[in-house]
Amino acid sequence: MGYLEKFAEEPKEQEQTTTITIRLPISLDTKFKAYCDSLNLSVSKAMRLMIEQELKDKEVTPTEEQVQKYNKSRFVLTKWKRDGMIPCPICNEFKSASNFNRHCKDAHDMISEEIFSNPIFVEIAERMLT
Ligand SMILES: [Zn+2]
Repeated sequence: MGYLEKFAEEPKEQEQTTTITIRLPISLDTKFKAYCDSLNLSVSKAMRLMIEQELKDKEVTPTEEQVQKYNKSRFVLTKWKRDGMIPCPICNEFKSASNFNRHCKDAHDMISEEIFSNPIFVEIAERMLT
């Protein structure tokens, strides 16, 4: 890898992310957060790096059953995505899919799931896609 490559920004079109919650003793949580702070690293990124490291050389292929089970209650925007854009029914404009959740939070103080579970917004978004 060239010297500058490791500083290159991640590709714009990122996979949708999810959030996990873990249970920890408070002292361990405090210590880990302080450690991450000292490295100027978010806890989220630190955990992601550790998980990636753990899985790096492993051949893990979730079964269809596992995919269903783990994604059961997950809200995904895939259905609404066209050419990397998502229709925002509140703005009546297409917004970048990779920043859509942030757009919802910043512009509307809502999460995307709230928007796309509202039948009025769903109708507008569907009209935008046709
Ligand atoms: Zn909007």
